[in-house]
Amino acid sequence: MTQNTAFFSDISQHLNASQIITNSVEMAGYIKDWRGNFSGSAAAILLPASTKEVSEIMRAADAHDQIIVPQGGNTGLVGGGIPDNSGKAVIISLAKMNRVREINADNRSMVVEAGCILQTLHELTEAEGLYFPLNLAAKGSCSIGGNLATNAGGVNVLRYGNTRDLCLGIEVVLIGGKVMNLLSPLRKDNTGYDLKHLFIGSEGTLGIITAASMKLFALPKARATAMASVNSVSTAITLLERLQRQSGEQVEAFEIMPKTLIDVVLKQFPALQRPLENPDAFVVLMEIASTNAADGTPTQDGTIPINDVMETFLESAFEDGLIDNATLARNAAQRQQLWDIRENAPESTKKESWPVNTDISMPVSSLETFYTEATKAVHAIDDTVRICGYGHLGDGNLHFNLIEREGGDPDWAEKRPVFTKILYEVLSKVHGSISAEHGIGRLKVDQLETVKDTVALQMMRQIKTSFDPKSLLNPGVVLK
Ligand SMILES: Cc1cc2nc3c(=O)[nH]c(=O)nc-3n(C[C@H](O)[C@H](O)[C@H](O)COP(=O)(O)OP(=O)(O)OC[C@H]3O[C@@H](n4cnc5c(N)ncnc54)[C@H](O)[C@@H]3O)c2cc1C
Repeated sequence: MTQNTAFFSDISQHLNASQIITNSVEMAGYIKDWRGNFSGSAAAILLPASTKEVSEIMRAADAHDQIIVPQGGNTGLVGGGIPDNSGKAVIISLAKMNRVREINADNRSMVVEAGCILQTLHELTEAEGLYFPLNLAAKGSCSIGGNLATNAGGVNVLRYGNTRDLCLGIEVVLIGGKVMNLLSPLRKDNTGYDLKHLFIGSEGTLGIITAASMKLFALPKARATAMASVNSVSTAITLLERLQRQSGEQVEAFEIMPKTLIDVVLKQFPALQRPLENPDAFVVLMEIASTNAADGTPTQDGTIPINDVMETFLESAFEDGLIDNATLARNAAQRQQLWDIRENAPESTKKESWPVNTDISMPVSSLETFYTEATKAVHAIDDTVRICGYGHLGDGNLHFNLIEREGGDPDWAEKRPVFTKILYEVLSKVHGSISAEHGIGRLKVDQLETVKDTVALQMMRQIKTSFDPKSLLNPGVVLK
């Protein structure tokens, strides 16, 4: 580590000693990413507890040319919150900025600080009869600041949109210490450029998000969750379209997983229950939800209306040969069992192998072609590779991940870049995106240069320079 003495003596006037971590044992959790693909080094971790303290840090950073790396829950998957190895950067963790400033039921909005953990926001809003629909498997650790900085997606994008769509306003601290207050609770506000959108998805390269005003919704009172076995991606797409129509567009989540992945999840988490015996090539996990309590209340003959919608849908799909096996959750515990399979998918593949990971999107109409062509291209080189392509089908977003054959492949490390290249070649044929929801981070900086429109890249650099002329904020992330 290399400490910038002038910076440290300046900020120690504004933070107390417990807010400046320099001990390597305590720093360890901040300088390595969740997947173990990125590790760096930092001069210190700073833990500001207020917008004013963030502002003092950003003022001092500008005055003393200090490199800053913002960090939330450190669940990012592209290395955006991890410093380089020079040891010069300081990480600003927003973890202590975790107050809920306001929940406004009439306006259906809340103002929360950046370090609030997503799951905590779920619990607090549900206690008020309200719903914050952003939902991802990292919800127990990721922060709303990180969700905004990455424009996170997750399993409910289909109905509610991604983090950008859920955001009404933000408070952001710029290099130099200025606080830009865009913390509007308004749903309509056409007063010039909507600057919040520049910061959403900017991965900590333009400013530090310290608080946000987020939309809330009516809390669903009834849900029906089912898993069905299907033989192809295109059948899964047909099912989604049917379920949307038959349920009156009540679909909250529609996830696809190949059988190969289910086997890996059950191997790595043997306590989980096998959801379907002998599934076909894929399973889909689908959920519909209603805010009307009557939809979840048994009628005189004992039927639960929302379950009835799902059952009718499954029966017709079965009769039409679209599915050959399905299960409907009858209670909250059964619902959780189905979700446990999906939510443990990232952890399972990480435990099983050093996967080739992707986070790609494409038109829904191209998913079948991509899946087939990518599988063919990978298996042409090595037909023992296990294809674990899963994800948010309705958004056209796949985590088309590959893991080595059962028992391990001694050449896997050499093969990984070859497979990665092949997958992106197939992706380019269907005009997909190299990053659907995880961002660019450090991982895809070079790749972005090859796929993004050159004028757009130029404009991105100009925007970066106007907010951060000395490139002190998260250098090397998003842009070279
Ligand atoms: C098991 C698992 C499942 C996941 N599932 C999904 C999923 O379904 N969908 C999805 O989109 N992502 C998913 N992710 C990725 C990750 O959870 C998201 O990217 C999340 O939004 C990151 O939040 P964080 O607080 O952990 O941010 P961090 O990892 O700490 O940071 C991420 C980026 O944001 C910047 N940043 C963080 N806080 C701020 C701030 N306050 N101001 C400015 N910049 C900031 C960092 O510099 C970094 O570039 C998953 C991750 C894991 C481990």
